[in-house]
Amino acid sequence: MDSNDLYEEVLTQAAAQARRYLRTIRERHAGVLPEAVKGLSALGGPLPAQGENSLAILELLDNAGSPATVASMGGRFFGGVIGGALPASVAAHWLADAWDQNACLYDISPVAAHLEDVVLSWILDLLGLPPNCGGAFVTGTQMADVTALAAARSSVLRNVGWDVERDGLFSAPPVTVIVGEEVHATMLKALALLGFGKGRVHIVPADSQGRMEPSHLPRVSGPAIVCVQAGNVNTGACDPVGEICDIAHEMGAWVHVDGAFGLWAAVSHHRKHLVEGFAQADSWATDAHKWLNVPQDSGIAIAGGCEILNDVVLNQVLVSFGADEVNTRVIDAVQAEGTCWCGGTVWRGRKAMRISVSSWATTDLDVSRSVAAILKIAADQSSSSVTFARTSAEGQIDSRDRIREVSN
Ligand SMILES: *Cc1c(COP(=O)(O)O)cnc(C)c1O
Repeated sequence: MDSNDLYEEVLTQAAAQARRYLRTIRERHAGVLPEAVKGLSALGGPLPAQGENSLAILELLDNAGSPATVASMGGRFFGGVIGGALPASVAAHWLADAWDQNACLYDISPVAAHLEDVVLSWILDLLGLPPNCGGAFVTGTQMADVTALAAARSSVLRNVGWDVERDGLFSAPPVTVIVGEEVHATMLKALALLGFGKGRVHIVPADSQGRMEPSHLPRVSGPAIVCVQAGNVNTGACDPVGEICDIAHEMGAWVHVDGAFGLWAAVSHHRKHLVEGFAQADSWATDAHKWLNVPQDSGIAIAGGCEILNDVVLNQVLVSFGADEVNTRVIDAVQAEGTCWCGGTVWRGRKAMRISVSSWATTDLDVSRSVAAILKIAADQSSSSVTFARTSAEGQIDSRDRIREVSN
């Protein structure tokens, strides 16, 4: 078989498998059944002595792998801010795989370099950032944080006469790093990778929604970096970025915004007040694989009873069905039942269900089916939950309008 025939054969089969997967995604269990996890043992075993037939590999991947995926491409997966992928972005991703470009230099892949320039300028335009900002496409927000914070590190040290690229960090003047109490775990990872150490950061207390309290920002002198957050992963709340920028810039600090999904509030007329002043910061990290619904991995660094526990301002809803044990039971039962998938979290010491609405595929029907399933399960698990769960229904619908507003 020549390579044309081989491509014809494998791409046709992969397309058929992908189409079947996507056609049935809305009706299947939203999570992963225990049998599917057991079925994963079909993958692996001893390293095969020789290569296998391409079609057989695809068959095995589909049979064993597809059932062990969560239905994040359906409309009722609300676990984590994961998003779906728009049809055009899935198809474009296939084409890009066929190109298989190494985008290291303009001459090695002019199309990749050109698209990078176009998309970056569009993002600056969308977010209202200065057109002369530099930017890079990386794997996700964590790497965008690493990239932007590396620029921050160079800049604040250069200001005191230290060239970190040439002389490294040993014996460098200390850099004060300030984060909010509700900092995302990946931001601490980014700081650790850059040699700042997660244990030596200065932590600023947060309010009841998880927003950093600007009045508690320490006044420091010397090289300093303040990391703010747009979009708390539990509540969706955003740090008061503008206010923090004013204080931080007065003391000569660099302000970096971790805006994985929350930064996109800036493109909605009704939500942009949440991130007011964010353009005054010095660097921003975000991604396109959450709220912009493009395939993973797509991060962007720009250098330059039941009770709703949070104020639902963006796309995140925290629901409590009562005591911690009740919440654990309800979340486990919702995940096992499979109509929708919601995760658990601990917010201010209380166990809660976390509903993250971040996929274009979520319809009104998905919301009502999910709410009905959660209500029924909550009623089975605790008699007092029904009136509370009604509030959660409104929270979800409300939050869905917001995602539509931002995505459209
Ligand atoms: C998701 C998230 C991250 C990490 O993003 P990845 O793209 O998964 O690396 C960082 N910060 C916040 C606030 C997030 O929500």
